[in-house]
Parts: sequence; structure tokens; C-alpha cells
Amino acid sequence: LLDVKDIAKSFKLKGHWYHKRKLNALSPLSFAIEAKKTLAIVGETGSGKSTLAKILVGAETPTTGKIYLNGQLLKNQHFKQRCQHIRMIFQDSGTTLNPSLTIQELLDEPLILNTVLNEKQRKNLIRTTLQKVGLLGDHMNFYPHMFSGGQKQRISLARAIILQPQVIILDEALAALDPSLRSQMINLLLDLQQQMGLAYILISHNLGIVRHFSDDVMIMSQGEVVESGKTIEVMRNPQHKVTQKLMMSQN
Ligand code: ATP
Ligand code: MG
Repeated sequence: LLDVKDIAKSFKLKGHWYHKRKLNALSPLSFAIEAKKTLAIVGETGSGKSTLAKILVGAETPTTGKIYLNGQLLKNQHFKQRCQHIRMIFQDSGTTLNPSLTIQELLDEPLILNTVLNEKQRKNLIRTTLQKVGLLGDHMNFYPHMFSGGQKQRISLARAIILQPQVIILDEALAALDPSLRSQMINLLLDLQQQMGLAYILISHNLGIVRHFSDDVMIMSQGEVVESGKTIEVMRNPQHKVTQKLMMSQN
């Protein structure tokens, strides 16, 4: 489904000419992910996880490398199409919903930007999407502040799935939720994955979530993939010292 080939990214750091430095945020890395599968990306802070996520959604341009979706090369000028197919949810997306828009307006935005549906069709789609994430049609005229943290996360999930994407990137999207809300959210995500054939890229510090939720895992350190494989196998028998350290610190 999604094929990432030799993606690398370096940032030019500003400074006086003799101080100019380059920061290699990502060394060339490759991976592939299939529909209905979850790939977890784990690594210490600054290891390049969010940089990779931003490249996949088209918010950053890679220094080198290519990304294929269903065998088709994704070009940066096709940003709009990419936005439909690859969506992202952040840790704080629940709290960054525009407070002056109703839920209907919030969900209408991506539809107006990316589809040719008329008002009635959009309203129907908004209603069914809200149902998919466990919210009611009645909620359409509510404003974000009228919802709990967990409900707001569901609204950002609704916004992510409304264009029927193929890949969703969850960048620490579950980190701010308490354990019971988190497991509700995981169950919802797993249901939607089966229903919609979604592939997830799960960026998380929490190895418990990774173990429970992902099929494959990629461990990153300083912009490099130091270990990857089936989640159960990597967790059972971690090879790299970075992985071992991560596991030690959470047991
Ligand atoms: P965390 O777990 O804290 O979210 P991360 O793995 O997501 O970390 P990134 O946000 O990908 O890490 O950052 C990787 C490196 O790239 C860091 O050293 C960061 O400072 C640097 N970096 C990220 N974005 C930029 C930018 N726009 N300009 C310059 N440097 C950047
Ligand atoms: Mg990050």
C-alpha cells in the first residue's frame, strides 16, 4: 500500500557562514506497510519520528527518497490528493480544534476543500462519520469546548477519516488520554481499521500500546532505524542496545 524508499532529511541550521551546520534528522530509511496493518515507530525524543511523519503527509520535503502509494509515486505538488489519502492525528489535535467552529463546520472543512459533494451529501457524510467514531448526529451543532478530552480526540479522528484515507499517522495521538479512554480509543481505531481497510503508523513512546496494537515495529535512534521487525519478535528478543534500553526503562 505505502512504500517508502530511502527517505532522508537534513535541515540547514541558520548561523554565521563559518558556523553553518547541517542537521541530519533522518538517515536514508525504507519501509512498506499494507492495508489493515499497523507499523509502530518508537524512539527517543529527537530521533526523527515526527520529521518522518511530516514528510509522509507532505508537510516537509525529503532531501532524498521517494514515496509510493499503491505503486504510484507521490509528488509534492499533488499535496491535495496526498492529504486525502494520508492523514495525521497529533497528541494535541483534540485541543487544537478551532473553538469558534461547530462540529459540523469542523468536519465540513476537509469536504469543502477536497470533494465536490453538495451540502446535503456532506451533511449525511458528517452524520455517518460521527456515528463511526461513537458520537451522535445531535453533536453537529456543538462547539469543541462542550466535549471532554476523549470526545475531542474522537472529533479529530472523525476529521481524519471523513475523506476515507488509506493511511493514518497517529503521532503520540493516544499519549494525553488516561488509560481507560486510551483503551476505548484503541478499540475504536482497531474497529475502523477493519471496516475501512486502514493502515496505521503509530508513533508512540509507550511500549505497552505498541505491543498491544502494532504488527510491525521500527526502532529509531538519531535519525536511523536501528532495529525493525514483527513487534512480538522484537519485543521478545530485542537485538539492539537502544531497544533493550527502551524496554528496561519501561518494565
Ligand atoms: P519527539 O519524540 O520529541 O517528538 P521526534 O522523534 O519526533 O521527537 P523530530 O521532531 O522528528 O523528533 O526531530 C528530529 C530532529 O530534527 C530534532 O533534532 C529536531 O530538532 C530537528 N528538527 C525537526 N524539525 C526541524 C526544523 N523544521 N528545522 C530544524 N530542525 C528540525
Ligand atoms: Mg515527535
